[in-house]
Amino acid sequence: MKITEVSVVQTAPINGNEAWKPIFVLIRTDGGITGHGEIGLAYGKSHDAGFGQGVDYARQIIGMDPLDCEAIWQKLQRKTFWGMSGGAVPFAAISGIDIALWDIRGKYYNAPVYRLLGGKMRSRIRCYASQIQLGWGKKSRRHVRAEEYAQATKDAVAAGFDAVKVDPAGIDEDGGWNTWNLTGLLRNSQLGLIEDRVAAIREAGGEDLDIIVELHANTGADAALQIARALEPYGIFYMEEPTQSLSPELFSYISARTPIPLAAGERIHGRWGFRPFFEQRSLSVIQPDVCNVGGITEAKKVCDMADTYDISVQAHVCGSPLSNAAALQLEAAIPNFVIHETHEYSIVPENIALCRYDYQPVGGYLEVPELPGIGQEINEDILSASRVVTVR
Ligand code: MG
Repeated sequence: MKITEVSVVQTAPINGNEAWKPIFVLIRTDGGITGHGEIGLAYGKSHDAGFGQGVDYARQIIGMDPLDCEAIWQKLQRKTFWGMSGGAVPFAAISGIDIALWDIRGKYYNAPVYRLLGGKMRSRIRCYASQIQLGWGKKSRRHVRAEEYAQATKDAVAAGFDAVKVDPAGIDEDGGWNTWNLTGLLRNSQLGLIEDRVAAIREAGGEDLDIIVELHANTGADAALQIARALEPYGIFYMEEPTQSLSPELFSYISARTPIPLAAGERIHGRWGFRPFFEQRSLSVIQPDVCNVGGITEAKKVCDMADTYDISVQAHVCGSPLSNAAALQLEAAIPNFVIHETHEYSIVPENIALCRYDYQPVGGYLEVPELPGIGQEINEDILSASRVVTVR
């Protein structure tokens, strides 16, 4: 089998939101099988770079055997000059291609991807409701007051979740996003608002609710420690991205000073990116995004490396429903899975409509897709409104 054609697809802004444009890869073969992948840069400010990198890398794989995932991965990372620099854009493009190749592999062998990764460790995947500072419902809205955080918690619990994630420091007193300077020391008034929000979540969700605190790396190490100390009485499950993952040693500094377990990974790419966090054992949970860590091929290696350090895995999921399916295939097969991210975007109808199948948690659990391949495909109806470049 040979790769004959690769299309890179940048969707039109979802709901007119320029900040949310998932990018897909479609790999076609002379065997009649098409693989579907996602380049994990739906958000942030690298849409065109991710799209362009996908096109550049598509040119490198025409004529190769799509079942040779490892050889293609090595070519894209080691024979493209900048691939060896790492970083989000090259690794996200490698990821989109690699996921599409695993989709082809699964369809070729008539098996879901998890079975090709070693089989099933679990068939039901525990989920948390992610980013409840925007509420939990079909329409996002920035929450300011503690009572709104309590209501969002009740809405998530009513939807079946027994775990939530919140960024309690992302929205200011007036509803502005990321306006506070969090890199220095926080004022008592800021800390008070942050603590009130988390206290309201604990009160509304009860003592058994697992609360993940997300800081989006907007905080510096000292601000993160101020927040950690304020939140220690609330039994936090883990704390995500307390600072930039460009500084692994700062995670050691923070983890030595708080009992709250730390997590990071959506902005760490490949084995080389994760290695210092493993060696310093500063993270308790890694959050690789299958769509930007280097695909299924690399995610499996990173998760297995983590296991040798007793580090758990929660794949980062913030993309189209295809990114969700790719994460489920990985999480079904690895021993060190902890919990699955169900992002607030995943219940937005216009995001769901990007793909063919709609997998939603029931009672806080998702079933692992059993279709051959990744178990998800893009809805080809979106192509006419999308930017598409096809390489042959
Ligand atoms: Mg995050």
